[in-house]
Amino acid sequence: MARSAPRRGASIPARMRAVTFHGPGDIRYGTIPVPRPGPGEVLVRVEVALTCATDVKTFRRGHPVMIQEIPTVFGHEFAGAVAALGKGVEGFALGQRVVAANSVPCFACEACRGGRENLCDRLLFLNGAFAEYVRIPAALAAVNLLPLPDDLPAREAAFLEPLACALHALDRAGVRAEDTVAILGTGPLGLLLLQAARLRGARCIAAGRGTLRLSRAYASGAEVVVDVGASPDPVAAIRERTAGGLGPDIVIEAVGRPEAWEQAAAIVRKGGTVLFFGGCAPGTEIRLDTRRLHYEELTLLGVFHHTTAHVRQALHLLAGRRLALESLISHEMSLKDLEAALTAMERREALKVAIIP
Ligand SMILES: [Zn+2]
Ligand SMILES: [Zn+2]
Repeated sequence: MARSAPRRGASIPARMRAVTFHGPGDIRYGTIPVPRPGPGEVLVRVEVALTCATDVKTFRRGHPVMIQEIPTVFGHEFAGAVAALGKGVEGFALGQRVVAANSVPCFACEACRGGRENLCDRLLFLNGAFAEYVRIPAALAAVNLLPLPDDLPAREAAFLEPLACALHALDRAGVRAEDTVAILGTGPLGLLLLQAARLRGARCIAAGRGTLRLSRAYASGAEVVVDVGASPDPVAAIRERTAGGLGPDIVIEAVGRPEAWEQAAAIVRKGGTVLFFGGCAPGTEIRLDTRRLHYEELTLLGVFHHTTAHVRQALHLLAGRRLALESLISHEMSLKDLEAALTAMERREALKVAIIP
């Protein structure tokens, strides 16, 4: 009977093109069955998916949190339209344009109850954006699947998750208009952090490598751009571009390498704040100058992921169309070229790649 079957659009095929992850270094393009939405679930037709540095890391070494079993569909930044609704889904209509965050917290564990949803013990992650259709789990559909404003292009809406992470980071570091902020790393997230910090009125210094990325750092609003590859002493090069040569008020590390973590702590001014945004490889360690930490009262902060409030702030900001998001998308490719897209990102030849299924 029609009531018990999911409400599906007429044109959903039985199989779809998708890229699946089978283990480090092994992703495969092919066709797989289109998932059927169960109770509370929503099937979304992907209009555009974006590659992310996390996808590159996952491709190379798997992911301890986001990938729990293999083989699996993967990819987590996307926007599209509702293609089918599982039983009991309220508030969405077939064809409605939507965007989803890549996770949802449980709202019940100690971290969630303490207001730190990003540290939830049972974060439920969404994978599968690199496909024609993606199934949104019920818990995620109920909280972090959001309707798109009509005039927001899918390519921009797909920035929801990385922008939510960036906004969470700026809040955690306490970025204000009077701050000088140095951002180490000019990958897509470094540039997004830069754009978001500029919107708050901060003066921004960017440090990174690669002609494409450095040119986009200027386009993203950096007042000073330091080419780490061409600078014998990047720490000194950044400090000397701040008032009195004292160092930036806030340094955000968005590289994800221990050397950059150490540089971040060396660059910041007395009494300043360092935010470690980039995740390093498991088992890595850093060395810190205890004298500076103690006598110069440095604040060192880790930051991870986002909260439901930051997801909503991100959509609000995206709807305002004040970020230069197109400047963060360097290429457009099809699903079968995903491996080439991830490799180009790894070589710093690409920023984000828009994948059109
Ligand atoms: Zn991402
Ligand atoms: Zn929780």
